[in-house]
Amino acid sequence: MDFRLTEEEEAFKREVQDFIDELLPKDWMGVDPDGHNEQADEELHQFELEVRRRLAARGWLGLQWPKKYGGQEASMMKQFILEQELIYRGVPYWALSAALMTGDMILQFGTEEQKQKFLPPITRGEVQWLVGMSEPNAGSDLANLQLRAVEQDDCFVLNGQKTWQTGAHYADWAALYARTDPNVKKNKGITTFLVDLKSDGISMRRITQMTGHPAFCEVFYDNVRVPKENVLGVVNGGWSVALYGVATEKSFGLWLINSGRRDFEMLVQYCRETEAGGRPLGKDPLIRNRLAQIAIELEVGRNLGTKVQWMATKGMPIVAQACQVKPLGGCILQRLAHLGTQILGLYGQLDEESKWARLRGRMKYLYLASAAMTIEGGTNEASKNTVATVGLGLPRG
Ligand SMILES: Cc1cc2nc3c(=O)[nH]c(=O)nc-3n(C[C@H](O)[C@H](O)[C@H](O)COP(=O)(O)OP(=O)(O)OC[C@H]3O[C@@H](n4cnc5c(N)ncnc54)[C@H](O)[C@@H]3O)c2cc1C
Repeated sequence: MDFRLTEEEEAFKREVQDFIDELLPKDWMGVDPDGHNEQADEELHQFELEVRRRLAARGWLGLQWPKKYGGQEASMMKQFILEQELIYRGVPYWALSAALMTGDMILQFGTEEQKQKFLPPITRGEVQWLVGMSEPNAGSDLANLQLRAVEQDDCFVLNGQKTWQTGAHYADWAALYARTDPNVKKNKGITTFLVDLKSDGISMRRITQMTGHPAFCEVFYDNVRVPKENVLGVVNGGWSVALYGVATEKSFGLWLINSGRRDFEMLVQYCRETEAGGRPLGKDPLIRNRLAQIAIELEVGRNLGTKVQWMATKGMPIVAQACQVKPLGGCILQRLAHLGTQILGLYGQLDEESKWARLRGRMKYLYLASAAMTIEGGTNEASKNTVATVGLGLPRG
């Protein structure tokens, strides 16, 4: 196993870094670690649209995809390099990543017409997609989803509700999972639909997270007609599409780690520069010890994530390994947030707006935001169940 980049990959990495230097304002703190404030704050959303345009102009959206659909047929490693640099620097990337993940699914399961219709607009940065999986009674137990799709003439008619739909209020399209056959085993009667969110019968209600950001929505489908040509894969074959989507989402663990590295570096710098009781915080043995512990964990997580990427480039199965990185990433960021708020003391509880805030309220924000990181993209328990069954060969619980 050799994680070193080739000369060409190193050159690409530098090109991406230069691009980001030029793109970001000088005092850029970064979007929040899971990218959610980009979907809640109008100003950030506008910047996200600008980022999309600039990445598209470089030909960097759908880098790996075939040229005939707007891609560059670049290596998987180049895609990883691009993502890692964007996320580490806190460039808005959540909406793009959802669109690219959906594009990968369309490439895998779609018809030729669907590929021609849906992939080029993603590479041009023109459309936002949402992940339409969760419902009030279908989260970890996704197969329990109840949103109903009934065949009628040349359409399927959708009725029901989704929840926790990140960015739904900005999204154009949904990759949505619905029940098409209620009379078979739960995971056998599900179909995936590509749904135009401007269709009649769709309404939304925004949900505010405890960070104060209304980044996601409940979405209601009331007699929404979806043309049959928008079925992704085969009717009642949605479970395979869902498994593919869920497996891709597990790469979120490395996302968290790469983003956490930046916050960690800020905290270390703060400890270098800030004095308490007449000596730098960084000389306090307890603080040094706990910072070192986080450094170890981030390094372990990063190496594990890099191993998973390397395995992916070799075409090896990665589900069990990716499910190791996801819970690790969430837990490390929670521990980082706890440590950060403790080191900053009472200053660490202040919002960015306060003149007394340190690190522009970043640690307080991370503390609140990181609570979701062991839930979104599949809970830690769900990931560990996969490690136990797929990785260790243990029977299902
Ligand atoms: C910030 C954020 C963004 C999200 N964005 C989206 C999105 O864009 N699209 C989308 O579709 N969904 C989204 N989700 C939803 C997310 O996928 C679900 O929250 C997640 O899958 C968990 O489902 P649940 O909330 O229903 O919890 P539940 O599945 O009800 O779990 C509750 C608790 O029980 C535990 N549990 C459940 N089953 C088991 C089991 N078999 N073994 C052990 N423990 C178990 C869980 O680990 C958890 O601790 C988002 C969630 C968050 C927090």
